[in-house]
Order: sequence, then structure tokens, then C-alpha cells
Amino acid sequence: MRVLLVYPLFPKTFWSYEKILELVDRKVLLPPLGLVTVAAILPQEWEFKLVDRNIRQITEAEWEWAELVILSAMIVQKEDLLNIIREAKRRGKSVACGGPYPTSVPEEPQAAGIDYLILDEGEITLPMFVEAVQKGEKSGIYRSDGVKPDVTTTPVPRFDLLELDAYDSMSIQFSRGCPFQCEFCDIIVLYGRKPRTKTPQQLLAELDCLYNLGWRRGVFMVDDNFIGNKRNVKLLLAELKIWQEEHKFPFNFNTEASIDLAQDQELMDMMVACNFNAVFLGIETPDEESLQMTKKFQNTRNSLIDSVQLIAKSGLRVMAGFIIGFDGEKPGAGQRIVKFAEAAAIPSTTFGMLQALPHTALSHRLEKEGRLRGKSGNLNQTTLMNFIPTRPLEDIAREYVEAFCEVYDAEKYLDRTYRHFLMLGAPTANIPARVPSWIDLRALLIVVWRQGIKRKTRWKFWHHLFGILKHNPAVWDHYLTVCAHNEHFLEYRQIVRDEIETQLAEFLADEAQLAQQKATITAIEEKQVQAV
Ligand code: SF4
Repeated sequence: MRVLLVYPLFPKTFWSYEKILELVDRKVLLPPLGLVTVAAILPQEWEFKLVDRNIRQITEAEWEWAELVILSAMIVQKEDLLNIIREAKRRGKSVACGGPYPTSVPEEPQAAGIDYLILDEGEITLPMFVEAVQKGEKSGIYRSDGVKPDVTTTPVPRFDLLELDAYDSMSIQFSRGCPFQCEFCDIIVLYGRKPRTKTPQQLLAELDCLYNLGWRRGVFMVDDNFIGNKRNVKLLLAELKIWQEEHKFPFNFNTEASIDLAQDQELMDMMVACNFNAVFLGIETPDEESLQMTKKFQNTRNSLIDSVQLIAKSGLRVMAGFIIGFDGEKPGAGQRIVKFAEAAAIPSTTFGMLQALPHTALSHRLEKEGRLRGKSGNLNQTTLMNFIPTRPLEDIAREYVEAFCEVYDAEKYLDRTYRHFLMLGAPTANIPARVPSWIDLRALLIVVWRQGIKRKTRWKFWHHLFGILKHNPAVWDHYLTVCAHNEHFLEYRQIVRDEIETQLAEFLADEAQLAQQKATITAIEEKQVQAV
């Protein structure tokens, strides 16, 4: 069987980081880990080609070669996914898809003409699909009916299928699932609340594979909560440290974790010793009532600011996610988030309006309350909320745009980054000095030219850079990388403003039209009553 694996396009989002990728001469931030895992689970006598549409188009030769097209997508990629399904069917190909979006909303790819829906986790449903194909079945839907696979049997992903030079960072996964119960979260719907981890040997085999393929850049541990099973994570980190030392630290790691990481000094120290250098925390909001409301109880147990600073002082740069629009939220939530980011000195944040993703506890509750606005949610910084909030949507949207623009104001960003890096603990891993590549040098020169010469904030840039070189010299290159990130955020502010304002204008026009229709109906009814 000749299988063409296709990864659909991402729209231009906060996560697409075009400006940063331009600096380092890469096309895409991260590879499609799901698809290379699918390729490893399918029979190895099948032949595979992989096209990431974020890198390039599918060639005519590839279309002709393929007998079967397999796609995987997240919700933000749905438009391109549906287009590829239609195109593949137009060309008479068999088409299968899976991944978070088809699993949540299978009826949409079905309506586009998909033949096989391989839903839930592939370790269970891919073998069902293979059996069906081998029996000659031309279509089918494969589900695991709530059974979660043991990921210790997952094979090493087929990283060899990737165009490695196009990616800024590589993805690997240690665990699936998260023990917490945040109301808006779809991870616990897809992967459950009992974290399942791979074995340390399994993960090291994946690193061996990447190392042998020549990979020498960053690795993103894509787990939604890397520390969901702390015992197993510590077992991994103990082995990972030895592996990194033996291989002279070829990789640095980033990941996502819950904020209770701050309560485990041993765990933070172990991560830093393995050359983890940044961690993304879902802080969501500094408003305690909203955290309680959304069942993010783990964020209410300790001071959020103290936790962020403890993690940074331990040597892990903090990135944070914020959300506006929780039920019962009081006016001024946007400004409270800006103030919090300033007080905690968090340089990079992701910030969006709350969305009700399919099948989450939040979307079930809103459906019962009749508050869904009928569009499938899309966790994206440029999408208006897909439900009716408890305070005016217009107020939330305006607060959001103002806060987003303020948080990424060039001066504020430089100041926060400076304060963060002054407190950031120095790396403890004994990483040998390396000669910087031409790409690194070129990126450095562009950042110095743009931020140190062209921009109005140039004096601040030089002041802060010298401050870091004087007070915390071990982190100067990491500091400059984070300064470079603002190249993306500065431009993205205008995209957020334009897109939210356009959607808001449409929403308000619809509301005005509805109000007009209601007034007309009421007037007609009153006239009828008078006539009677
Ligand atoms: S901590 Fe993160 S992954 Fe876990 S339930 Fe909450 S939002 Fe989901």
C-alpha cells in the first residue's frame, strides 16, 4: 500500500511565529508528531511519503503515486483538512483521517466525503483500520469506545519521514492525559484524567533516533501536562540526564506543565539539569473566583506570582497562557491580566477569549443553558467567543484587544523580559561551548539591527542587554532569543485588533438586526391585540 500522509495548513495564528521563523530561516515551528506516529504503527511493509502543507504543496507526482491519503488535524486546521479531503476524492483516492478535530467533530470530515475515520488514539484504532483495509472494506469508522491504550507499546515515530531542515524545533511525547479537571479543557476529554507515560527507555530510543538523524536543535515535549505523573517523570529525568551527558547535551527541552511544579523543587532541579529551559503554564487568569468557576483549583492553592518566580529562579523560563471571558467575570479582567503579567514579570504570554470546545464540560453546560452560539470552538487568539458570556461580549472583546496590545507593547515587553531574566536561575547542565552556526549569527545581527538600531526602544534594548551581561551573564543568549520573539508579537497585535474588530462589527450588526426583527414582531402583535 502506498500511503501519502498529509498535514493540513495552519492559519496565521499566534502559534505560527512567522517572524521568528524568518529570523532562523525555518518554515515551521513544529512537525506533525501524530502523523509520524501513525506511520510507525501502520504495517512497515507499506510505503510512506509525508507532506506537511505548512512547508510545501503536494506535487502531481505524489498525488499520482498515492493509493491512500491519511490526514490528521487539530481544530484550527479544519478548513484545509476539508479541502484536501475533497481534492483527494476528486482524484479518486481512498482517504482516511484522525486526530483531535475529526475525533471531536467526525460529522464534518464525513460530510466532505472521507472514507475512513480513525478516531480516538491510534494505538487501538489503527490496527482495526488495517484489518478492515486488508479485508477489502472501502469505508469505516474506528473508535476505541473509551478504552485508553497503554502508551508503553507505542513505537518510535517515523521521524525519518520529516523534512527536518524545515522545522525550528522537534516534538516528542512522554505522556498523555492530565489529572486535573479544568472545565474548558479538551485534553481530558480526548486522553483522560489518568496520565499514561512511556517508559524512560522508550523516550531515550526516540532521542537516539533523532540524534542519529542529525537533529541538534530544540525538542518540545508536547505533553499537555508533563508533570501529570511526577513519579514517572522523575524516573525519566534521572535517565535523561545521563543520556544528555553522554551525548554532550545535543538538545534543549521546552514543555507545558501545571503550576504545582513550583511546589516540587527536586523536580524543577532535575528538569534544569537535563537542559529544560522553558515551561508553559496555563495560568488563565489572576481572578480567583474565575479559577474556582472553571474548576482550575490547582491554581488557587498558592500565590500565582510566587509560583512563577520560584519556577524562574530555579532556571526555567516561564511562558503563560491567559483567558478572558469566564462566567461571572467582573469588568476590567483584561487590565488585571496585564497587571499580573507585569507583576510576575512573564515575558511571553498567549492570550485568548474563552472558547467552548466540543464535548468539554464547559460546552455541555453551555448547551444545557442554551448559550452556545452554534460554531465549533477554535482556540485561536483572533476568534470571538462561541457562546454568550455573562457580561456583554462587546466589553470582553474590547478589553481583550486593549490588553493584548498593551501586553505586547515593545517597551513593556523588553522591561518584563529584562526583569524575568534578571531572576532566571542559571543553567546547571554542563553544556560544552559550541561555535554558533551562520543561521544563529544572522539571526543575532537582524535582532541587533532591528531592536538595537532601528527601533525607538533601542536605548532600552542596549541598557537591558548590558544589564544581563553584568548581572546574569549565563543567560544572555537565551535572553536575546526571547527579545527576538517580540518581532512576532508586535506584528500580531494588529492582526488581533483587525480580526476581532471585524467579527465584533458583524456580531453587533446581527444583534441589531435581531433586535429590529423582535421590535417589528412585537409591534405587529400589539396591533393585532388592539384590533381584537
Ligand atoms: S491543567 Fe491543563 S491539561 Fe490539565 S485539565 Fe487543566 S487545562 Fe487541561
